[in-house]
Amino acid sequence: MKAIVKTEKQEKSLGLFDVEIPGVKDDEVLVKIRKTAICGTDLHVYEYSAGYEFIQTPVILGHEFSGVVEKVGKNVTNYKIGERVMGESNRYCRVCKNCKIGLTDICLNSKMTGLHFNGAMAEYIAVPEYTLHHLPNEVSFEEGAVAQPISVSLNAVFDHCPIVPGDRVVVFGPGIQGLIAAQAALLKGAAKVAIIGTDLDEESRLPIAREMNFLAINSSKEDVKKQLEIHWGSSEVDVVLEASGAIPAVETGITILKRGGILTVFGIYSKPLNLDLTKLVRAEITLYTSYTSTWKHYEQALTLLAEGKLNIKPFITEYPFSDGIQAFEDGVSKKAIKPVLTF
Ligand SMILES: [Zn+2]
Ligand SMILES: [Zn+2]
Repeated sequence: MKAIVKTEKQEKSLGLFDVEIPGVKDDEVLVKIRKTAICGTDLHVYEYSAGYEFIQTPVILGHEFSGVVEKVGKNVTNYKIGERVMGESNRYCRVCKNCKIGLTDICLNSKMTGLHFNGAMAEYIAVPEYTLHHLPNEVSFEEGAVAQPISVSLNAVFDHCPIVPGDRVVVFGPGIQGLIAAQAALLKGAAKVAIIGTDLDEESRLPIAREMNFLAINSSKEDVKKQLEIHWGSSEVDVVLEASGAIPAVETGITILKRGGILTVFGIYSKPLNLDLTKLVRAEITLYTSYTSTWKHYEQALTLLAEGKLNIKPFITEYPFSDGIQAFEDGVSKKAIKPVLTF
């Protein structure tokens, strides 16, 4: 089968290769891939950014995927040949003390598909049954593949951010995580939601945020506080969701929070942050963090997609699998927000 393989622990080193179709262990399901999305993590691995030295090479990339069951191991009970499925990105251990209480997002032995094990940028993937979900009939294969990043935003907004109806919410980072978090905030009853980006987002991401009727602010050109005052009558907000991974975003976020406000951080930062904790203490700002997602958040993502409550179509750019390397290039240059490979 054809597969996109990261061959060396260095920049780029990515190519389309012929590899063996994986064998299926007793508890595994062989999935014939229909769609695999490229994520920010994959782009970091492509560029071999700091913080990704742990990957195994050679490795087939890809952890956001959907497809059809091709074959099942003899102990598999919940999946049958021909069923439509999508897969979770993390392989949690199910025996550590966090897994035992359902916190599989912070499993003590967590490994990741497409980084520690061969992933889904290939015609087939073999995965343990417990990492799969059935796709509802109403959910397309491309939505199914993107349910993984959606689940990450839902974990942040639903479980690590006590938004109440009527709240004013500001989301930093108009990538897929931020655009989903903004929609999830509305589902929780937020009265107003703004999305903040920079000049880098002006070409594709901020226009989509505007198209979706969010107040979209370019912080490279506009003063965030002033824009909030103009559009909302006040620059004080109840909740800040930080999805950008940019340190200036955290700093600006703190300046617009009301006393008693909530700061939920789920970006990944390339360096440590200098944080004025006293300011947070004196304003009784509650800081939450959120990381990856659990089985529940995948099911929530699939249900909300099936019900038409989340819109992801504007973010997706499809590429034939054979143009996979171009899709990576377009992801790096931010030309495509969410490149999805079609098999
Ligand atoms: Zn991802
Ligand atoms: Zn565990």
